[in-house]
Amino acid sequence: MEGFHCDEQWAGWLAPYKKQSVLHLFISFVVQGVHSEQADDFDIVKQKSIYTNFKRISPALADLQPHKLPIEHALEHHGINHPTFFEFLKDEGKTFEEADADDIYGYMNEIWISAAYEELIKQMVDEVFHILFQDRELMMLFNIYVSDILADADWERLENVDRALLAPNGRLARVRPPSWARRAVFFRDRGRCVLCDRDLTGLLNMDNVENYDHIVPVSSWGLNDITNLQLLCVPCNQHDKRDGAPVTSGRYQSWYPMDDDDS
Ligand SMILES: [Zn+2]
Repeated sequence: MEGFHCDEQWAGWLAPYKKQSVLHLFISFVVQGVHSEQADDFDIVKQKSIYTNFKRISPALADLQPHKLPIEHALEHHGINHPTFFEFLKDEGKTFEEADADDIYGYMNEIWISAAYEELIKQMVDEVFHILFQDRELMMLFNIYVSDILADADWERLENVDRALLAPNGRLARVRPPSWARRAVFFRDRGRCVLCDRDLTGLLNMDNVENYDHIVPVSSWGLNDITNLQLLCVPCNQHDKRDGAPVTSGRYQSWYPMDDDDS
């Protein structure tokens, strides 16, 4: 995971509440790493022999498509038009049976910079984010991981940190979450305090910023990021009471009551 924060990439996490959250950046980093590994692991010698054998044996099994790289399956699965490895080889004046690892490398280098790949990453990141964002305990672990990176970062070396983002103590200044972020958190947490389960829907409206808590407090290098927010009632949102330590719950709200049998 080191590549995620090396070269002072963390400086890009500091601007408050970007819709492409830090978790989006992280998922994108991981997914691209997986694609790269899959390309490296593609056993072209084996796939070529399958291809050759199947050409002889059974056209009905052509669906196996041994000439397709994993990235092509991903692009196809998402319905994204893209140049195929086959076409790439044809442009190089080669057949699949003549291809080698360098050709995969050449093809992948074209894929990395293509609009098709950009679209694939966007779709995959959105899907993964949708699932992960619902898991508050995971959001807490992720934000602790991120805040540890910031705590260890060499801030002095970095010239392009916007000092206006910082509080006098050198940590990020707390920023009021925008309405899109409040709405998402309110609905994820279903209008209830995640610690004491108090129903907040009738007590106040979802715009009350007092109720949007930073899971990792900004004083502990927490970010102004949607993944670092949760819904709390005002009494539970007393940071001094909990010593500034990150806290959340794995409580899930039922979609319907389990204790009565009708209505
Ligand atoms: Zn509460």
